[in-house]
Formats: sequence, C-alpha cells, structure tokens
Amino acid sequence: MQLHLSTWPEVETYLAGSKAIIIPIGSTEQHGPNGLLGTDALCPEIIARRACDEAGFLIGPTFNVGQAQHHMAFPGTITLRPSTMIASMLDWTQSLVRHGFERIYWLNGHGGNIATITAAFSEIYHGVTFSGDGGNRPPLKLQLRNWWELPGVMDLCREIFPVGEGSHATPSEVSVTYFGYPDAVKSVAMSPKIAPTGPIRDAQDYRRRFPDGRIGSDPSQANVEAGGRIVAAAVKAVISEFKQFEAA
Ligand SMILES: [Zn+2]
Repeated sequence: MQLHLSTWPEVETYLAGSKAIIIPIGSTEQHGPNGLLGTDALCPEIIARRACDEAGFLIGPTFNVGQAQHHMAFPGTITLRPSTMIASMLDWTQSLVRHGFERIYWLNGHGGNIATITAAFSEIYHGVTFSGDGGNRPPLKLQLRNWWELPGVMDLCREIFPVGEGSHATPSEVSVTYFGYPDAVKSVAMSPKIAPTGPIRDAQDYRRRFPDGRIGSDPSQANVEAGGRIVAAAVKAVISEFKQFEAA
C-alpha cells in the first residue's frame, strides 16, 4: 500500500490496524559512469515497495534528496544541508504522528545520510520529551536501517561480487536499480577497471581523487539478475524486521 496512491479513508482504515509506516530515504547524487543519479533513493524504494506489496505494509513517499555535498562536482547531484534535512525529517514525522502513526521505519540507501538521520532522530525525540504531555516514555519509535546491512544482504553481495564491490557506485546497488528499471541498464567500459580508494573531503577534492565518481568499485559487473537476488533477500529481511518493529 503506497501512501501517495491511497485515499485518506484508506489511510484511516490502515491506522485502525497498524501504527507503522516505512519511509525510504536516500540521495540524489552521481553514481559513476553507469549508475543512476537516483541510485541511493531507488534502492530502498524498490526494496520497500516490494516488501509492502507482499506484506500489506504502508510505504510513504521517498525522502529522495540527502547529504551529497561531496558529490557536487558532478552534474545532476542535489544536496541538502544537514540542518535542512533534520528540519524536513522533523516535519514529515510530526505530520505522520499527528495522524496517529507511532512507528516510523526509515529504510536508508546512503551512507552519507547516517549521521544526519541520527541527529534528526535526536531532534525529534527532544521535541517529544519536551512537549506539553511529554514524559520520559514517548510512544513514538523511530528506526534507521541501511538496506545493505539487512541480515543476509551484505554476505550475498560479497558472494555475487567478490571483486570490485567497493564503497561508492557499487555493482550491488547499481544491480538493484537495474532490476527495478531494466530499461536503464547501461554498458560502459570502466577505466581503471577498479576505481581508486581514499578519504572523502569536499566536492572538488572528491572529483580530483575519484575522477569518474566511483570509489573502489567496478560497477560494469552490475546486472539485472544479481539485482533480483539482492532485492529478494532484502525484501525478506525487511518484512521480518518491520513486523517486529510494528509489534514492539
Ligand atoms: Zn550509493
């Protein structure tokens, strides 16, 4: 069940049976020569949407722009400053809480978002604690899960791509998007085959160190079939984890 394809009476009915919702959260940033700019938002969206279709959960709109400052030297990247992202997540959450949601599960697709999402959770909980009827045991529960850290998923990615997984524009994440959008598959020769590794600093420094955007990866290995296997494992794990979260 997708929030933006539902009517308000349908959401009201859903709330009578569950107070939990999944929000995919990601980024709009360069993903190397053959990876889509939406990769980090598309991966959690593709996984969460299938989990929701299978298990009847409610999925909200994808929070699809995040912390991408260091990718700004590549055209197409869009970034929020941390304070904007924290404020937006607070507003999204307060809107959902106003309707009765008590469990918000953020399925994240971008490592660079983690610190800011964690800070947003602190901001949100702070507001709950110091609100009029606050108390120390707020009913609101937030959960952050990075899709690649779902049980079983990382092991499977390493098994499928033992060489050249890397850390940015990975063959695993590109495969997930190719599975979701097979018309977007692109064949691009990578040079060097495996991208360099190094520290992440500002945008200009990033482009100097990683000229085509990749870090440590060879995403020319990405393919639809691998994406399908990774998505299947992730969907299974999300369903099991979300059910526990919903009941907690
Ligand atoms: Zn990514």
